[in-house]
Amino acid sequence: MLRKCPICELNYIRENETMCRTCAAERMRRYAPKVEDEIIMCSECGENPALPGHDLCEDCLKEQKRQANLEILADKVRADEADDPLEEDITEDASEDD
Ligand SMILES: [Zn+2]
Ligand SMILES: [Zn+2]
Repeated sequence: MLRKCPICELNYIRENETMCRTCAAERMRRYAPKVEDEIIMCSECGENPALPGHDLCEDCLKEQKRQANLEILADKVRADEADDPLEEDITEDASEDD
C-alpha cells in the first residue's frame, strides 16, 4: 500500500508514514538547531582563533597582559621618581684642607 508524499508529491510513502525520506531529511535539516561553529579570529594577529569571550587569541592575551604589567611597572617607576626626585649627590671636595 503506497501513496504519494503529500509534501513533494513525487515520492511514494507507506500508509503509516507522513512524508517521504527526502522531505523528512529536508525537514530535519531545516529545523535542526544551527550549529554555532563560527570561529572568531584574533583581532590582533588574525592567525589564531580568539578565546571565548575575548577578541584575542591566547598568545595575544598573554602578550597584552605582559604589556599591561609593563605599563603598570613603568607607571610605578615614574611615580616613584616623581615622589622623591633624585637628588644630586654633591660630594664635597675634601681636598681643600687647610
Ligand atoms: Zn516528499
Ligand atoms: Zn592573536
